[in-house]
Order: sequence, then structure tokens, then C-alpha cells
Amino acid sequence: ATATPWRIVEPSEINEMMPVTPKFAHKGTMGHALLIAGSYGKTGAALLASKACLRSGVGLLTTHVPHSAVSILQTAIPEAMMSVDRSDLMFTEFPSLDAFAAIGIGPGLGTQVNSHRALKDLLPAAHNKKLVIDADGLNILSSDPEMLDHLPQETVLTPHPKEFERLTGPVKDDYHRLQVAIDFAKKHKVVLVLKGAYTAVISSNGEVSFNTTGNPGMATAGSGDTLTGIILALLANGIRSFDAARIAVYVHGLAGDFASADGQRGTIATDIIKNLGPAFAHAT
Ligand code: AMP
Ligand code: MG
Repeated sequence: ATATPWRIVEPSEINEMMPVTPKFAHKGTMGHALLIAGSYGKTGAALLASKACLRSGVGLLTTHVPHSAVSILQTAIPEAMMSVDRSDLMFTEFPSLDAFAAIGIGPGLGTQVNSHRALKDLLPAAHNKKLVIDADGLNILSSDPEMLDHLPQETVLTPHPKEFERLTGPVKDDYHRLQVAIDFAKKHKVVLVLKGAYTAVISSNGEVSFNTTGNPGMATAGSGDTLTGIILALLANGIRSFDAARIAVYVHGLAGDFASADGQRGTIATDIIKNLGPAFAHAT
């Protein structure tokens, strides 16, 4: 058997992968992202992912939410535009995708049958788009594995350990998880982000990059939703999926480290978002 190529991410690599924003950049050249997130009672996930996306250098962000979330989001995040679902409670339909460079799906989405159907319809319509799928987006895929055959190439999936096992079945230990993940990434031609301490980012060729930033203070509600927003912004910028995932994971961890200067225990996801500006400045 051939050894799997793996490496520990170096700060210099992150710096080299990160494109310099040109002097003549404008919001039209920085990419328009679509985020599909939130359901009744889980509007916060949409809010955190939206804020993180805007704090990560996206040009424009449209967040698709059910009716009940609109005034909450518009008040909390005036920078985001809204696409409003016909449903008051959940994701049941999606807007025309033409305008969007990248699509993020899943935080707080819920797994109701209508949302399942809408995601199933979206995948073929998004075949030429950059995608990141997280949280309930992943849970829907787990309940209907045939959908994995319809993912656009180089889609980024960001499971935490439980979400990963829902996708692939139980794993024996961390090493086994990594082996199963490498096979999964190659088979489905996706980029896998196995979240946790030393997050592993796995390319569709099976290359593994272990992250070094971050701390246990990030084991807190909404932490992963902010990562989804960061990846979405970098995909919308036009950065290739494996690089976008590695940069995002590194910067997310660094922002968590900056946030924990005030103590790990007291850190909440909002603190990670507040530190994204300094983290990007430090990393690139
Ligand atoms: P989620 O479970 O979806 O909220 O995602 C949690 C996020 O926090 C992921 O990006 C994890 O990598 C990160 N995280 C959680 N626990 C730790 C830890 N002990 N060390 C570093 N990062 C962590
Ligand atoms: Mg999560």
C-alpha cells in the first residue's frame, strides 16, 4: 500500500495560498455568496455564519432564510441581503443561482422533508458552483446517500465527528476515521474537513493537511457555523476548494486563539467572529 501524503500546515503556506486583494478590487470582483441556513428556533446559526462570511472578505452576501428570520437578520446584519423563503419556518425552495459564485448550505437548516427535497433539487442546479455543506446539510446527505453522487466536484464538507459517522458509519478510533475519510474524499471527489482539535483537511486526491491553530475554548455552540461562513467567503473569492478550506480552518483557529486571550471558558462564537479581522491580518 502507498503511504498517504500528509503534512502539518505551515503559516507560510497559508500566506502563499491567500491571494492579494488588488488595488482596483470592488465588491463585484470579490464574489457574491449565497448562504442557505437557519430555521425557526435556529436563526442564530444563519446569523453567525453570515457575519463570519462578511468578516472574511466576501464582496456580497445573500442569506436565504424563512420568513420568520428576516427582520432578525436584517437588524443584526445590515450588510447582508436576504432571499426569503415562502415558508415561515424552514428551507423549502431556493432562488435562481445565476448570480452566485459560491453557495453555503446547512447551519441551523433543519432536516424536515421539505428541506430535504429542496436540497435534493438544488444539487443538480448547482453543478457548476463552489459549495460548502455543513451541519443539517450533512445530516440530510447522510439520510439519503444517493445524493452524494450529485455533489458538484470539489464540494467542501465540514463534519464534526458525529456528523462524519452519520455519513460513513461508525469508526473504531481516530486513525480509522482518517482512513475512512481519505477513501470517502477520493470516492466522492470532495474536500473533507474533519473538525476537532488538529482538524484534518483532506483533498479529493487524499492529501491530508493537519491544522495547528485553535483551542478547546472553541468547543462551543456556533463555532462550526462561523467556519462555514469563512469557507464560503473564500470560495466566493474564487480560491480553489482545498486551499479555501485550509486557509479558513487556520484563520478560524487563530481567531479562536485571539478570542481566548480573555479566557477559553468564556469564549463564545461571536468572539471568534470579532477576531477574524486580526486573524486574517496576522495570517496573510
Ligand atoms: P461544531 O461542532 O460544528 O460547532 O464545530 C466546532 C468547531 O470548533 C470546529 O471548527 C472545531 O475544529 C473547533 N473545535 C472544537 N473543539 C476544539 C478543540 N478542542 N481544539 C480546537 N478546535 C476545536
Ligand atoms: Mg456544527
